[in-house]
Order: sequence, then C-alpha cells, then structure tokens
Amino acid sequence: MTARATCTRKLYSQRGEMPTYLALTRTAQEDLAAVQTYISKQGDGWQDIHRVLPRVAKTFTQYSERYIEPGRLLLKASDRKFAQAMYGLYDSKAGYLRYKNAPRKPGYVGCCPYCGIKGSITVDHYLPRSRKEFPHFSVLSANLVPACGDCQGHKLTYYAPTTGRVVRNRRRQMVAAKLSQRSYRFRTSDRRILHPYFDRFLSERILIAHIEMGARGVPSLVSITPRLSLARSTRRAIEFHLDRLHVLERAKGEVEHLHSSILKGMKGVRTLAELLESLEKQLGSAQSRGGSLNFFDALYLRALIVRKDLHPQLLSVVETENAVLVRVSQARRVRVPAHHGRRQPAR
Ligand SMILES: [Zn+2]
Repeated sequence: MTARATCTRKLYSQRGEMPTYLALTRTAQEDLAAVQTYISKQGDGWQDIHRVLPRVAKTFTQYSERYIEPGRLLLKASDRKFAQAMYGLYDSKAGYLRYKNAPRKPGYVGCCPYCGIKGSITVDHYLPRSRKEFPHFSVLSANLVPACGDCQGHKLTYYAPTTGRVVRNRRRQMVAAKLSQRSYRFRTSDRRILHPYFDRFLSERILIAHIEMGARGVPSLVSITPRLSLARSTRRAIEFHLDRLHVLERAKGEVEHLHSSILKGMKGVRTLAELLESLEKQLGSAQSRGGSLNFFDALYLRALIVRKDLHPQLLSVVETENAVLVRVSQARRVRVPAHHGRRQPAR
C-alpha cells in the first residue's frame, strides 16, 4: 500500500463514513425546527408565512438532490413574497440559529473548499441569499458553505442556469411530453459551481496541476485540469467551476511563497532520493493540513513528485539554498563575541 492510499483512508475516517468532501452535520429537519421556533416568537406580521411554510419545508428536504437544478427549488412568485421574511433570519442573533456561523469557525476547514487555497474563510450562500431568488435558504445548513473571500468575489450571486422550463400542470406536462421528451423537464446543467457537501467526487483527487521549470529555479504553474478518469460531465462541471472562480490565476500567485516553504523543508537534502523522500513527506503533511486531496499545496507537491526530469535542477537549487544557510549560520556564529554567549562569573 502506498503512502498516498493510507492518507486517503485517513481523510475518510477523520470525516466519518460520509464520502463527501465536507460532512454536513445538521439535517434539514433540524434547520426547519429552528426556523419554526423563530416564527413562533414573532408578531402578527409573520402569520402569513405559516401558509407558505409547508412548501418551504419541501424545498429544504429536496435541496440535496436538486442543487444541480436550482430552478426547481425556487418558490412560486406568490410564496416568495412571504418567504422573503426569512431573508432576515441570517442576521438574527437568536441562540438556536447560531449554527449558521459554524462554517466560519477556525479549523472548520483546512483550505477553501471551492478553490483549495488557504485563505480567510467566511460563509457563502451556495444558492444566493437574495430577496428575489432563494431567501428561504438563508439559514439552511446545506446552503451555507465555508469559502474564501476571493471565491465569493468571483462567484457573487451566480447559480446554474436551468434550461427548459417547468410545467406544473399535469395535463400540460403530458401534452408537452408527447411533443418532446425534454420540453417540460429541466436539463442537468454542467455550468455550475461544485457543492462541497454533495458533489461526492470531491472526496477523491479530482485535479492535476501541470508545472514547467521557470525562472530562478522556481517551477511555474501552467494549468490545473480535472483527471481524465472522471466522467465527461463531471470534468465539464469542474472546468466550469475552475474557470468561473479564476482558480488558476490565484493558484499561480501562490506558487512562489509555497515553493520557498517547500525548499525550507529540504534542509540537509543532498541526493535525488532524499529530495523525493522529502517531497513525499511534505505531500503527506500538506494533505492532512488542508484536509483535502485537492488542497492546492498538495496538488503542487504532487506535480513536483511526478516531474522527475525537473529533480536534478531542483536539487541544485536546494544545494545552493543549503550552502547559503550554512554561510549565514557561520557568519552569525563569528559575529557573536564569546563573552555574550556566557555570563562571566561574579568575582
Ligand atoms: Zn476559495
């Protein structure tokens, strides 16, 4: 068994048996109970929402299957008017709604689940919490995703477009079905942002980083692509996601800093075998640190491991760095006068 396989299993066991990238710890029913508690404490203005609540509850339970086709989770125009009252729930300070802040807690994730890059994490509404679209999901746990500010800035209020249209009337559905198999159905769209709670393939390694040797011995990032072993539609969704969130450009900006920290971890490395061993070790710790096989630091380290043709050049950079470190430490030792190191005994 390889070191990488062990690491994958460790990640699964850390997150329980749920084979998703992020384990969702609350159920839609628990969220709904919190919403109902809130409503019961409000005044007369909230009476109307009781009429809508069963339909809101239905969308809560359907969310995990329909997030790919969010058009099916929109409420009817008449219901939306009342559901808008739920928009403000996200800003409520009520103790029973405090769970909504869980994704932003330090240590909840090791890296941003959308881009795989380290950054300060806040909460993103996967389906936008706008008054027009999904105000009813403002405190649904499944819709609250930890995300970095950059991803949120690029995602904004985007959600997958749904092709086709919904015909609710059963008789019209049958007529439409006779005319065309697809005319009354929404088609699954690949133009979507990946969902860290429900896109199961995120628990696997889905990305490959491609590098080339760049200036000053720092390999530069050329591209990030989905693995070819994935289904075609999954690959399309991943490509769209990376493109929409500008992941490649941002990852390129990470390389220089990351590379210098990798070199620091190679103190004392003298041979190609030691270099490879150090890279493997750093990969293992990066995967645990990021909590994901798709953590960018891990992708970059894996790219370095695979590109064995770059290793001799990398080793010469490591040797130069080590020589500089030795010279600096020698210079420090020479500069410190002997009597500073030890206290003279009192006479
Ligand atoms: Zn991000």
